[in-house]
Amino acid sequence: MPSRAFLDETLKALAPFVRNSFTAVVTDSIGFTCAGCGLEAKTLAKAVESKREAICFSCGVRYRAEKAGNSFTFFPNEPGFRCECGAEGLIPTGRIKISYQFSCRACSRTIEFVGFDWRYQFLDAAHASQVPEEA
Ligand SMILES: [Zn+2]
Ligand SMILES: [Zn+2]
Repeated sequence: MPSRAFLDETLKALAPFVRNSFTAVVTDSIGFTCAGCGLEAKTLAKAVESKREAICFSCGVRYRAEKAGNSFTFFPNEPGFRCECGAEGLIPTGRIKISYQFSCRACSRTIEFVGFDWRYQFLDAAHASQVPEEA
């Protein structure tokens, strides 16, 4: 049986590693479900810590991050729209340009931006072109 002193020494030796691995968790990536596309958005905790902002790389919707203790809460920081099918979505303003197209998550209808005053129009499936793939 190891002595009590030996255990104390071992625990003392382990302490820095425990702290390091905890730090690693904080600098690791944070995942949350994107309200814009429904996919998991991943962001580096370090970036969120300094910018208080996160972006979904799938759809481009931006989020404001609020820190409470050791966790972040993400709030969509984009204007919303309502599709003809009734579903609500978020507009990724960082990617928006005239004639930018994206799809409604619920009905897959293609929506095209026609103006920066948040005007958009619904396209018939026949006229819809592929949503450009942006990295
Ligand atoms: Zn998204
Ligand atoms: Zn729809």
